[in-house]
Amino acid sequence: MAPTTKSYDYIVIGGGSGGSGAARRAAGWYGAKTLLVENGKAGGTCVNVGCVPKKMTWYFASVNEVLKGAKNYFYDVPEDVKFHFEKFKKRRDEQIVRLNGAYERNWSREGIELVHGTAKFSGPKEIEVELQDGSGKASYTANHILIATGGHPLVPEDVQGAHHGITSDGFFDIEVLPRKIAIVGAGYIAVELAGVLNAIGVETHLFIRGETFLRTFDPMIQETMTKTYEEAGVIIHKSFKGFKTVERLDSSPPTVTEGAHEKRTDGPTPDKRLKLTDTEGNMYEFTELLWAIGRAPETKGLNLDIAGVKLNEKGQIDVDEFQNTSAEGIYALGDVTGQAELTPVAIAAGRQLGNRLFGPPEFKAAKLSYENIPTVVFSHPEVGTIGLTEPKAVQRYGQENIKVYKTKFAAMYFDLYPPEEKVAHPTQYKIICAGPEEKVVGLHILGEGSGEMLQGFGVAMKMGATKANFDSCVAIHPTSAEELVTMR
Ligand SMILES: Cc1cc2nc3c(=O)[nH]c(=O)nc-3n(C[C@H](O)[C@H](O)[C@H](O)COP(=O)(O)OP(=O)(O)OC[C@H]3O[C@@H](n4cnc5c(N)ncnc54)[C@H](O)[C@@H]3O)c2cc1C
Repeated sequence: MAPTTKSYDYIVIGGGSGGSGAARRAAGWYGAKTLLVENGKAGGTCVNVGCVPKKMTWYFASVNEVLKGAKNYFYDVPEDVKFHFEKFKKRRDEQIVRLNGAYERNWSREGIELVHGTAKFSGPKEIEVELQDGSGKASYTANHILIATGGHPLVPEDVQGAHHGITSDGFFDIEVLPRKIAIVGAGYIAVELAGVLNAIGVETHLFIRGETFLRTFDPMIQETMTKTYEEAGVIIHKSFKGFKTVERLDSSPPTVTEGAHEKRTDGPTPDKRLKLTDTEGNMYEFTELLWAIGRAPETKGLNLDIAGVKLNEKGQIDVDEFQNTSAEGIYALGDVTGQAELTPVAIAAGRQLGNRLFGPPEFKAAKLSYENIPTVVFSHPEVGTIGLTEPKAVQRYGQENIKVYKTKFAAMYFDLYPPEEKVAHPTQYKIICAGPEEKVVGLHILGEGSGEMLQGFGVAMKMGATKANFDSCVAIHPTSAEELVTMR
């Protein structure tokens, strides 16, 4: 017998950052009858296998870095300070479970109906959900349907045995730290995880295709951070052509990490032994391998063709500036669209969509501006970036119309460090200005505290700040940030 179909104003597929932000705005602010379908844990990638556990692990590593430097402030801290990663991991997991509960409580308080199951389209405005409680399938319909299904980490398909490695999903399953890890990738996830592991004593090898990592960032960041990582002990294999095979040498049965989505890889195990052979025949042995080669949108199995939703050439859902897909009444946002894959971007897009669909008339053209989105890499040290890189600014405005201000120094915190230790802690800032009024069109910072520093400058740039505006702000002394308003 066909399941009965329940009707809603709004169906949201995916309870991650974007789906949650969208459903809460629609139901909580405007009272739209909203159904949220989630087939994993509440909060999606960010809460479970992304920003939150990543930042907590970054804090864990930062504590170790402070302890290592404490002798410079005349603290008697033993060289081999003991830490208990497995206890930290357990505590981190508990915190995430608490957050999962907070998400579900917020949804419930705002009148959002939650269904645990996997959704797919069964008609242009209808979805079918395979319910996770084993009770079968249910069918739902709405005039407005949002796809916010996120993405999953990629494992290369052309490397034999690639599944013996882990991805960022598996990183968060690690209980016993590997002795020696190979991380493949040059994006921010590879750099963040390499930084964390290196800071807590894991022999970390980073395999990158070019000469520098963070290739989409300003050259100042690419070059300084790559050098800093090398000086801090990360072994960087540059101009890397790729691995050919991965063999598992240990006899332990592979545990399976299911990840946030359907990709399955071996889980991390303490006694893992992997033999890696690259395309040039070089062989390496590692106790863990982590693929950080990019993420793919989660679209498989959604029956998008039934709904008439089209993908772009990268396989992401194609949307316009209002998050409309090619099908009327069906929208997409967040990682599944590949638009600035960041949690606050997905949340903000979800809120704007809620405003537009269910809000008062003045919001009928509400949309998210994707210009000047500040972003931070939780590397060691942190990196912050907003607006155009120098090459992009030259491309857009012409060399003769841009002016670049730069500074580099050692933050005061490291004044008491010996010179050879200071090199691992650079601070560098770059302001890129365009036109005779010197409008700030790019800001790139690296150094301690960059993450917290960038948000306020993001507001200034959103308001169209010029270099003169920066300079008119009285400096806060003594800080690193004051250099940003005193640059000549
Ligand atoms: C390691 C890592 C670190 C990161 N760090 C940061 C950071 O520091 N700052 C930052 O801003 N961003 C960070 N991100 C990116 C951020 O996590 C994502 O941009 C954000 O989670 C995207 O939100 P989303 O709603 O689009 O997708 P997701 O959060 O992935 O949510 C999608 C949800 O949809 C569900 N779903 C999928 N298919 C179906 C289906 N068919 N039916 C029902 N449910 C379904 C999934 O289970 C999932 O819960 C990080 C990502 C990773 C991987």
